[in-house]
Amino acid sequence: MTTTVQQTDAEAAVGTWLSDFDRALTSGDIEAAAALFAEDSYWRDLVAFTWNITTVEGPAGVTDLLTQTLNGTRPTGWRVAAGETPTRGDGVDEAWIDFETNAGRGRGLLRLRDGKAWTLLTTLYELTGYEEHSGPTRPIGTEHGIHQHRETWLDRRQREAKELGYETQPYVLIVGGGQGGIALGARLRQLGVPTIIIDKRSRPGDQWRSRYKSLCLHDPVWYDHLPYIKFPENWPVFAPKDKIADWLESYTRIMELNYWTHTEAKSAAFDEATGEWTVHVERDGQPLVLRPKQLILATGMSGRPSIPDFPGMDSFQGDQHHSSAHPGPDAYAGKKCVVIGSNNSAFDICGALWENGADVTMVQRSSTHIVRSDTLMDIGLGALYSEQAVANGVTTEKADLIFASLPYRILHQFQIPLYDQMRERDKDFYDRLEAAGFDHDWGEDGSGLFMKYLRRGSGYYIDVGAADLVANGDVKLAKGQVDHLTEHAVVLDDGTELEADLVVYATGYGSMNGWAAELISQEVADKVGKCWGLGSDTTKDPGPWEGEQRNMWKPTQQEALWFHGGNLHQSRHYSLYLALQLKARMEKIPTPVYGLQEVHHLT
Ligand SMILES: Cc1cc2nc3c(=O)[nH]c(=O)nc-3n(C[C@H](O)[C@H](O)[C@H](O)COP(=O)(O)OP(=O)(O)OC[C@H]3O[C@@H](n4cnc5c(N)ncnc54)[C@H](O)[C@@H]3O)c2cc1C
Repeated sequence: MTTTVQQTDAEAAVGTWLSDFDRALTSGDIEAAAALFAEDSYWRDLVAFTWNITTVEGPAGVTDLLTQTLNGTRPTGWRVAAGETPTRGDGVDEAWIDFETNAGRGRGLLRLRDGKAWTLLTTLYELTGYEEHSGPTRPIGTEHGIHQHRETWLDRRQREAKELGYETQPYVLIVGGGQGGIALGARLRQLGVPTIIIDKRSRPGDQWRSRYKSLCLHDPVWYDHLPYIKFPENWPVFAPKDKIADWLESYTRIMELNYWTHTEAKSAAFDEATGEWTVHVERDGQPLVLRPKQLILATGMSGRPSIPDFPGMDSFQGDQHHSSAHPGPDAYAGKKCVVIGSNNSAFDICGALWENGADVTMVQRSSTHIVRSDTLMDIGLGALYSEQAVANGVTTEKADLIFASLPYRILHQFQIPLYDQMRERDKDFYDRLEAAGFDHDWGEDGSGLFMKYLRRGSGYYIDVGAADLVANGDVKLAKGQVDHLTEHAVVLDDGTELEADLVVYATGYGSMNGWAAELISQEVADKVGKCWGLGSDTTKDPGPWEGEQRNMWKPTQQEALWFHGGNLHQSRHYSLYLALQLKARMEKIPTPVYGLQEVHHLT
């Protein structure tokens, strides 16, 4: 806890740093600005300086960033954010800060050690002159007085729906209307960027409706809010999939999104000369060409199933499908079910099949990290996303910024002690699981679930009960690679034969640039390179270190092509920065990109 003396000291240290930084930047003294950063320091910028999502390290990184961005940014007004007070603890002074650039207003989080910056987060949250109309500047909604031929809100909406995409072109086309496309669409709407969201499915929310029946969100409500409209106070901690689907559907309507269902993008090509995409779509079976300036693939990180190709699959006589096509357990009571894989989907599906009286075997091919949901909530998320966090004044927006302020390079160092605590708290559980022969890991450096998610987006299960079924043998465990299938069985590489009426391939999903290959060309997919991952040089996240998630929410090597997605937290938070990048381009605000994504891997 910060005492009054510590607080005064923190205020003084932060005040001095901010005025020194302000002076250095205003006078263009990059050397002096860089000298305010410790040797071991990180500056993460979300669009404010770099028109990119970038982290630089140490004074040399700061020098490079400022050399390329300072002239175009002209930041001023560095100050402690209104209503906030710097704090001191564990040798770190921490402060919420505000500043302005020549394009907009920014906020951030500064941490000092011994008077020098250790971490600095800078984010742009609005463009000057293009502020969203909310609160005191909210729209009037009507024009009082008498107006002949008055156009009502409904008239306007109907006219817009009729014209957009036919008589007028959207500036942005979002392909994919899951939570990602919807959150981004909502922000663009508020920024006045003409946008169409297309999805080949029948209804918004079908992304969730179509998943296996037992699915509930694995993340708690405080982590899951969409922009602008929070879930109500009585919303369950873990929303059932169909409930979240209905919420998404209502949200698209309330937020006045131009959301085209039954619309599939068939192909897209960018014309360098006109700076325009030609996108062939099929809407309700009718071909149509759209010509947006910006194309967003929000087609899902968990949208391209990785379906294995085992010998004998074509002669297998039972049901077989990828986890994304699993209908749920109803048809499989009393049947022999083999689930290939041992991550989230595999556990959820095994659990539901077992609850429904199936004979279930899980095939584990490689180790999995498991953390119990309640433990994750208490130890992993509680400080930022929980009822307690809200009571402590940590709003969702603050929590997002705090999370964003921890540089990926050192994030694992903050995570490891938390997972050590979890290991201790649930020791009996892990002992039982391992005694049952389950290969469990904590991530290659012990940093657990979030790091696995950020690095590879797979390899874990948030346990909501099914792990006990494996630990106590109710769900049988088989280990090894699948060698082939026969008419009635799955055969593993050690010769083990698992009789099966159903085989579920819970084998994960492919990289998002595969969508670009499908829709645009292999050449563009390769030009853009792999999506997701940090370059941590751990399994499925090869080096070199890249500092940020590859290609997500930021400019790519293909002009006017963007990738958006991730979990609800990421869709909410990063949609702001992507929306601001798009709005700035629409308004012809200069957006020189610092540190454009390099390509080291193709998939
Ligand atoms: C089993 C499971 C459980 C998960 N649990 C959670 C959780 O608890 N919390 C969480 O935050 N995340 C969870 N996720 C991860 C992730 O948040 C979800 O996958 C989420 O649906 C991703 O949203 P999205 O909008 O990025 O993509 P999606 O929801 O996959 O939406 C992509 C959309 O693109 C459309 N599309 C693709 N190609 C085209 C085309 N050519 N033309 C038109 N439309 C197209 C598809 O129809 C689809 O509707 C889970 C994922 C899975 C698989």
